[in-house]
Amino acid sequence: MCSALLLASAMDRNFRVAVVGAGATGLSTALCIQNRIRNCDVTIIADKFSPSTTSDGSAGLWTPFIVPDKQKEIVTRWALQTYRYLWDLFHSEAAYQYGVQLISGFNFCQEMKNEPPWSKSVVGFRRLGNEELKDYPGREFGIFYTAFTIDVPSLLSSFLRKFREQGGFVIAKKLKSLQEIDSSYDVIVNCSGLGAAELLDDATIKPKRGQVIRVKAPWIKHFYIDIDKSDDVTYILPGVNSVVLGGTSQDGNNSTEDNQADIDGIRERCLKLMPSLRDSKVQGTWAGLRPYRETIRLEIDKVTAGLKAKIVHNYGHGGSGLTLFWGCAEDATNLVLDLLKSRKARL
Ligand SMILES: Cc1cc2nc3c(=O)[nH]c(=O)nc-3n(C[C@H](O)[C@H](O)[C@H](O)COP(=O)(O)OP(=O)(O)OC[C@H]3O[C@@H](n4cnc5c(N)ncnc54)[C@H](O)[C@@H]3O)c2cc1C
Repeated sequence: MCSALLLASAMDRNFRVAVVGAGATGLSTALCIQNRIRNCDVTIIADKFSPSTTSDGSAGLWTPFIVPDKQKEIVTRWALQTYRYLWDLFHSEAAYQYGVQLISGFNFCQEMKNEPPWSKSVVGFRRLGNEELKDYPGREFGIFYTAFTIDVPSLLSSFLRKFREQGGFVIAKKLKSLQEIDSSYDVIVNCSGLGAAELLDDATIKPKRGQVIRVKAPWIKHFYIDIDKSDDVTYILPGVNSVVLGGTSQDGNNSTEDNQADIDGIRERCLKLMPSLRDSKVQGTWAGLRPYRETIRLEIDKVTAGLKAKIVHNYGHGGSGLTLFWGCAEDATNLVLDLLKSRKARL
């Protein structure tokens, strides 16, 4: 997908990069660095691995529906790079192994002044006509397009397997700070999601709690997203192994326990949208915390002191980590390359 760049000659030592985090962001970043930078040893350090990360439990739909205004342009680019990456993966032999499914569906909203900035770049995007909306009473606007759902545990376990096969190292450890990391690394890439709040003492990253239900309903072949007047989002998302029903978006709620009132509310809203779900069998329930920040932090750190290694941050993807991971991994790798090139010049 991208040609590897040789940074060090045979006489030089290999560069060493540590990636903190083994969710969608950390694993894709670690793989992208391996793919693009030769003569570079990459180590993943994380306390949680698949299937125990937030990424694993997420609904796994590619859809840039919560795009922070301040980063609209760059987030759109990250989303479209990820769409392209998933497109190639879906058309490869590995599509089932990686849990990637191409899927079309409906997205209802209360207001739509302009088409979203990604509308021309996804397959089959169109506004729903009044005739079609009639079948969904109370919905004023809607769009229809083709996106991807990902069975995230399949994606992450495939990423990790590939990372190890390509010579990557893995350390299972909870870090109290980045300063704890062995000083032999040239660059540390911080992909710690909500963990960044503690790791960096970053008060700008907060949890947005989400509850989902997974059901068996193989007759549902399209996705449905419905944003109502109070901005509550209801969704029905068929994946490879189950249909995900959601959702909730609760600011500052730190609980990863299931909440029965949330579960009942989700079921009621989803049944209103798709009554046949009454016959679906519940496979499981899950609640997780979106790593929400007003802007995604993808940059070289210029403030953290006390470290020999340079730091690149890639965290705070909120409700869009599975929509943006590959675009962000590419940009984080560009920053690592810049740092290693300047380090090489000084060697
Ligand atoms: C209910 C719900 C539904 C969602 N649905 C979607 C969806 O349909 N589409 C979409 O795009 N997004 C969705 N999301 C959002 C998505 O899950 C997140 O944006 C994404 O998981 C963030 O990935 P991440 O790799 O940055 O973080 P995580 O998956 O949380 O991974 C963080 C990693 O960092 C490690 N770490 C953290 N702190 C430390 C430390 N101190 N020491 C060592 N390791 C550490 C953790 O162990 C873990 O390995 C949903 C989220 C929820 C809660």
